[in-house]
Amino acid sequence: MAHREKVANPIATESEESEFYRRQGPLMEYILKGPADQLFKIEKVPGPPARPYLSPELVRCGRCGDEVMKSCARVREGQLICAGCPGGF
Ligand SMILES: [Zn+2]
Repeated sequence: MAHREKVANPIATESEESEFYRRQGPLMEYILKGPADQLFKIEKVPGPPARPYLSPELVRCGRCGDEVMKSCARVREGQLICAGCPGGF
């Protein structure tokens, strides 16, 4: 499974997550500073864009016990950790 999928799910280890963000650095730099006419295709569309899908699945933080959206949790030492706990970011 690709690091991106593991980070998104979230099942990536801390080192896999660090490697993912290290590799993403140059691409993020290009997206943030690259020429808009090369990054975007601007055209009229027939209606409003679809709303993004957000998973409502909740999981319990393995450290503080708070409920957190699964997509916002991180895996640390085999546990799902919320952003408010040490190591959650
Ligand atoms: Zn927590």
